Amino acid sequence: MRDTKKARKAAIIGGGAAGFFAALHLAEIDPHCEVHIFEKSTQLLSKVKVSGGGRCNVTHACFDNRTLVQFYPRGSKQLVAPFKRFSPSDTITWFKERGVLLKTEEDGRMFPITDSSQTIINCFLDEAQRLGVRIHTQQGVSSFIREEDQWNITFNDQSHFVADALLIATGSSELIWNQLKSFGIKIEEPAPSLFTFNVKDMNLHELSGTSVEHTSIKIQGTKLKTEGPLLITHWGMSGPAILKLSAWGALDLKALNYNFTLSVSYLPEENDQSLMDFLKNLRSKESRKQVNSFSPFDAISKRLWNYLLGKSDITQQINWADLSNKDLQRLVDELLHGQYKVNGKSTFKDEFVTCGGVSLDEINFKTYESKKYPGLFFAGEVINVDAVTGGFNFQHAWTSGWIAAEGIKN
Ligand SMILES: Cc1cc2nc3c(=O)[nH]c(=O)nc-3n(C[C@H](O)[C@H](O)[C@H](O)COP(=O)(O)OP(=O)(O)OC[C@H]3O[C@@H](n4cnc5c(N)ncnc54)[C@H](O)[C@@H]3O)c2cc1C
Repeated sequence: MRDTKKARKAAIIGGGAAGFFAALHLAEIDPHCEVHIFEKSTQLLSKVKVSGGGRCNVTHACFDNRTLVQFYPRGSKQLVAPFKRFSPSDTITWFKERGVLLKTEEDGRMFPITDSSQTIINCFLDEAQRLGVRIHTQQGVSSFIREEDQWNITFNDQSHFVADALLIATGSSELIWNQLKSFGIKIEEPAPSLFTFNVKDMNLHELSGTSVEHTSIKIQGTKLKTEGPLLITHWGMSGPAILKLSAWGALDLKALNYNFTLSVSYLPEENDQSLMDFLKNLRSKESRKQVNSFSPFDAISKRLWNYLLGKSDITQQINWADLSNKDLQRLVDELLHGQYKVNGKSTFKDEFVTCGGVSLDEINFKTYESKKYPGLFFAGEVINVDAVTGGFNFQHAWTSGWIAAEGIKN
């Protein structure tokens, strides 16, 4: 039986997005619960601050839960029910009720209208003060143990705190995962997600800033493939299509040690035959023009076209009439199946996450509580849930924090 006279204490480990959102909701719905956030660093909400290039991509304008879960390479099955309880619409409303208006960009990403992540941080800090959430910075948790039906938490300075409920919202923390492992909780091997691909090709690097709106990309020797915009950078390839591949392929690509070959189609709606016919036709129609004088495809800039001619071993100064069928075939191959050797990855500055963490089998998604240890809850990136870029990672931080708070209250 719970002692109703004594205030219950909830300890939230981690002053990031998930920990804060959980703390605020818990303090709101259970005013008798003492809510404590313990943050190891001096900085609260540090990832929120730098998120979305300093603008904080809070959520995504995706209002169909079945569609929403498809943006989560890990967690898509388990998140259907949680998103029914706290969805992007609820996020928008939650912020609106606290005076923070969000706007939607063309690609569906949602940001505060101020275009500043500080707006989100200020909102959280004001709310924490209003609701009496107790925040302890520089309080790194070194371990925790279950004592009867409470949790005894030890900090780096050897001090202790005893809580009735413990929420782990520490993001990707090896220390905490190891501690959980020692309790027999399964932890999936962590791996980076949301990164860009390094391609050692100086000629390609010179095209830095070139984008192609619609490409289709495969990773050879795997089942990984995707479609979407591609951006060429001064170290290789980036853009939504590459980031999607890096998220869905996070584990496979780690196993390949980030050495693999990409096959890129710059004209996904074409097939080999139709493209060959088109190029042969061009050879007759434009016979006296130099091949490098214009790109015959709207989707491909002149610079990229010239690069592809070079990659196809076609002398740029020759006329269309002088191209052999073999030349055209090599061009078709480059346009539809261009091969790029990737060796290594780079960080995407706007957003990156770690996949892996507390196994989905360990969690009751009605409460985000441990199936093995009552009173132990999880929220955010500490769990083996991650999403492609676009505001989906924060959405899971809000959803899991909100539901964990409901679970702690009950
Ligand atoms: C550069 C960058 C930009 C991003 N931009 C976006 C974006 O625009 N939109 C989006 O949806 N996602 C974005 N993400 C991803 C998003 O930031 C994360 O998914 C989200 O922050 C996860 O929240 P969290 O609370 O679970 O973990 P975190 O934000 O990592 O918070 C965990 C907190 O726990 C603390 N902690 C860890 N161990 C301990 C301990 N032992 N004791 C006490 N405290 C501890 C940490 O110091 C940290 O403050 C971005 C990520 C990065 C790195």
